[in-house]
Amino acid sequence: MQLLDDLMLFTPPPPASTPPAPRAALVTLVGAGPGDPELLTVKAANALRRASLVLYDHLVSPAVLALMAEGADRVYVGKESSNHSLSQKTIIELMLRYARAGRPLLRLKGGDGYIFGRGGEEAEALAEAGVPFEVIPGLSAAQGAAANVGIPLTHRDHAATLVFATGHGREGGDPELDWAALARPRQTLVIYMGVGTLARSCARLVAHGLPADTPAAIVERATLPGERCLTGTLASLPELARAEQVKPPALVIIGQVVSLQPLLARASARHPAP
Ligand code: SAH
Repeated sequence: MQLLDDLMLFTPPPPASTPPAPRAALVTLVGAGPGDPELLTVKAANALRRASLVLYDHLVSPAVLALMAEGADRVYVGKESSNHSLSQKTIIELMLRYARAGRPLLRLKGGDGYIFGRGGEEAEALAEAGVPFEVIPGLSAAQGAAANVGIPLTHRDHAATLVFATGHGREGGDPELDWAALARPRQTLVIYMGVGTLARSCARLVAHGLPADTPAAIVERATLPGERCLTGTLASLPELARAEQVKPPALVIIGQVVSLQPLLARASARHPAP
């Protein structure tokens, strides 16, 4: 207490002429979920309805954007794997510019912003710039896909660990991954952004000890119209995905849990896709 009093005594008051520092507007980083608008959190849906300015990514579905208020401004900042409409640096600069000009904004990302969504980089930049922000989580694509196609990501008989990995390197090309750790038994591996590198990923897992007949699935457009799930093994999936022309967005799920898919998909009461 004494210390606090001393500090207050010796801290000179600001000169009367100094205007208060303008406070930047709030940035809300929102995860839009895997696509089906009913899989938005209530908090995300409320924030979206209230927002007057939304910066959104390629993976945000039109059905989610349809929840925005009429007259609200939307800015597409893109982000397809090989066709980034705006660089990450430019997106961050834009966010800072709006916030500093006093314009609250909602930054909308597919899935969860903190899971392969670069939400971490944006939050870092906001924190460093002293811009206030809040984060609303979203259901990640892995959760939407798993529920819809009938693959429990963990299961006491099959998988005690669950790993999310990226199939896409920082500068494009292959990612630097610890393949030995990814090839462990009794583990489910989910690979995001893994369509282009699927054949090499499967080969590496086999080279690091996973049996070639390990069940594997690829889920395209999970929770969106046209959702597809193809199942096979580490040996057969790459050719199957190529023959069926699977395109992003798609998730690769590898592990014994995939063997439950035929039973669970058949048994679950399916609702028609939105
Ligand atoms: N932040 C997102 C992931 C962004 S990375 C999340 O938490 O889900 C982009 C990758 O996510 C895509 O390449 C794809 O692998 C996956 N993805 C996103 N939405 C998807 C969907 N509806 N169906 C299948 N995969 C999806």
